[in-house]
Amino acid sequence: MPRSFPEMNTRSLKFKLVGWYAGLLLGVFAILAVSTYFALRASLVGSLRESQLRRARQVAQLLRENEQNPGRVGQDVQQRYAPDINDRFVRITTREGAVLYCSPAPKTQSFDPLAMPPPKWPRDEESWRQTPLLGGRAMILTAHAVRLTGGHEYLIETGAPMDEVQADVRHWAIFMLTMLPVVGLIALGGGYGLVRRALAPVDRIASTLERISALNLSERLPSSQTGDELERLSVAVNHMIERLDSAFQQSRRFVADASHELRTPLTVLKGELESLIQQRGLDTECRDRLGSALEEVDRLAGIVEGLFAISRLDAGEAAAEWVKFDLGQLVIATADQMVLLAEDKQIRVTSSGDLGVWVEGDRARMKQVVVNLLDNAIKYTPAGGTVKLQVSSEDSKAVLEVADSGVGIAAEVLPKVFDRFFRVDQTRSREGGGAGLGLSIVKAICAAHHGQVQATSTPGQGSRFRVELPLVSSNSNSSKALQNHEQRKFQLG
Ligand code: ADP
Repeated sequence: MPRSFPEMNTRSLKFKLVGWYAGLLLGVFAILAVSTYFALRASLVGSLRESQLRRARQVAQLLRENEQNPGRVGQDVQQRYAPDINDRFVRITTREGAVLYCSPAPKTQSFDPLAMPPPKWPRDEESWRQTPLLGGRAMILTAHAVRLTGGHEYLIETGAPMDEVQADVRHWAIFMLTMLPVVGLIALGGGYGLVRRALAPVDRIASTLERISALNLSERLPSSQTGDELERLSVAVNHMIERLDSAFQQSRRFVADASHELRTPLTVLKGELESLIQQRGLDTECRDRLGSALEEVDRLAGIVEGLFAISRLDAGEAAAEWVKFDLGQLVIATADQMVLLAEDKQIRVTSSGDLGVWVEGDRARMKQVVVNLLDNAIKYTPAGGTVKLQVSSEDSKAVLEVADSGVGIAAEVLPKVFDRFFRVDQTRSREGGGAGLGLSIVKAICAAHHGQVQATSTPGQGSRFRVELPLVSSNSNSSKALQNHEQRKFQLG
């Protein structure tokens, strides 16, 4: 099967840094390779030229020694230096242009001495030039002018083909070219390793930041104490989270304080209104108006209670008492208490599932979850409909599902139903008395119990709310098998 590689993010810092690093390293290597190529060539040509000039000076010395008999010099050169065997060129010319000596063709036939360019007298004592040979080759040709005491002037030319120099620099160029991909690979691998090491804290910072939400602002970024820029960044972000945390806590405390302060006057107001309604001698209109005021006060009290509950949950005060309880039992008990409400609306409520599905938390708050979901299901299901409650365990999760055959929720608003004060249909909800806090309370309680709640719905056919909580074993040491063994089924309604 072909292996699929994760797609490369060409815009990531990692990619760009590795690209820059490898590019820079390759660039430096290329500059170094080209400059050493020319330096090597110049140095090899220089030493070849020097050796040829030295030879010319030696020949000049021979001329001086044989001033009286210059005709002998050619023989001496042949004997001492054997230019044809050493693949060298030597030519001695008089000022008048007569050739005193010209070395024979070399054994290697690498050049033809007779085809050499005509002598070129230097302006100073010595000069050198490069002359082309057949097949794209070249020869270093040096010239040394000598004036003997008798006034005779000679030009001594020595030359050597540059074949070896050219082969050496060609080998060097091939070596550098083969090293280029190796250097490229080292640059890429090394660069990737370095950048990955350097940016590892960034990944840690990002994943911690992703985890941090308004609910866990107490979490902080790991501080590496490396003294580098990333440590500074973590410290700065931690300070920012601290400030956010305190701002959130302040606003939560404000909502908690405000809702707490409102509870007592509302209770008093409600009591007063109730006793007023019961007074004799009130005319019908007055009674009706007091009744409607009492309804509104009731609604207000509900909202204040909701806000109070949410603010306490947000502040992390989820568990007044943290106990282990059977979710199935809780659902049976709660559904039992609410069945009258359903009967009023001619809705059939059925509960089924497993007993012995143990969860841990605040039982009263978890009951609130069941009440709110069941209350909504009954509220938004027309007469004659059904509401089904189901408790089960799946892997390490305890699952409660509340499904109704009611009006349903449109897909575009479904993600918002857990938002605070969100109501799908303002009038529909208001008539039912909801303020749009019921599901936010459910969500907050689930989060406080390390669980979650999700909703699915088909408009016109019904909705399904699914609560998932961590499953705990019936006794802390028991295994899942034991726990399963304990489970019993229940079916009510
Ligand atoms: P409310 O207290 O106003 O019912 P909730 O937070 O409980 O507020 O619900 C938010 C919105 O979600 C409601 O306005 C309602 O329209 C919609 N909703 C909740 N449960 C259901 C359900 N079972 N069926 C249809 N709509 C629902």
